Amino acid sequence: MTAHRLHRTTSDHEAAAVEARAYRGTWVLAALYSTRDSARATARRVPGAESFPAYAPGEFEAYAAFSVDGWAVWVRWVAGDEPVPALPDTMTVRVLSRGESLTEQELGVVTVTVSARCARCGGPRGWDTLRPDRFQEGGEWFTVDRWANLCGHQDKYAAVLQESRLRPPPAPPRPMPTAPPVAEAPEPGSPAGIVLAAAKASRGMRAVQAAVLLATEHGLTEEADLIRAEAKAVGCQMSALAAAHFLHTIGKGSR
Ligand SMILES: [Zn+2]
Repeated sequence: MTAHRLHRTTSDHEAAAVEARAYRGTWVLAALYSTRDSARATARRVPGAESFPAYAPGEFEAYAAFSVDGWAVWVRWVAGDEPVPALPDTMTVRVLSRGESLTEQELGVVTVTVSARCARCGGPRGWDTLRPDRFQEGGEWFTVDRWANLCGHQDKYAAVLQESRLRPPPAPPRPMPTAPPVAEAPEPGSPAGIVLAAAKASRGMRAVQAAVLLATEHGLTEEADLIRAEAKAVGCQMSALAAAHFLHTIGKGSR
């Protein structure tokens, strides 16, 4: 493994971009934030180099993750034709359990699903380094999984078990809706319908332009404000088409 600096204690997008370019496909810690929203907003802006010229002309990926030092933004450079493996959200591993209490010294192997991000720095866990490890203890054979995190932080089985218990269980499948289904397309003349028609008539129209149209030509200032707030929250150049869809989903698709 090539030794290179993955850790930093302050945000330095310039340095992170240089380092990421030197190790194509390798995730590099770029910045730390005090809130999750700030980290996520930055992660969304990195691929388009929006507000961050260090990543121009693009070809970077980014994600935000919890770290013990703050909300971390990790970036990687993916330019070129050779595909870069996608980073999974979770990994399923076999870990050793030494029993729940001090009196119970029973050994067992438990299969758990945990985040594919390091619990300390938010960097990618070694999901692509998983290998089985077979060993004997007390006359019995056990097979567990071992992996190495590129960040260097080691995962202890007890901590991984604990982490898996804190993960929310997967959502149960939704029951079939009994209420009448929402109309598939917004009604013409409804706020969503107006924006949809305008978006279709003028390709490339932005959400902010749709907001102006609703407010000035139709007096729909409330809907215009909802679009502006959503466009701001999304943090990217939201299209008018997306704005029409947004209005429709919040019930502004009927007259
Ligand atoms: Zn780590």
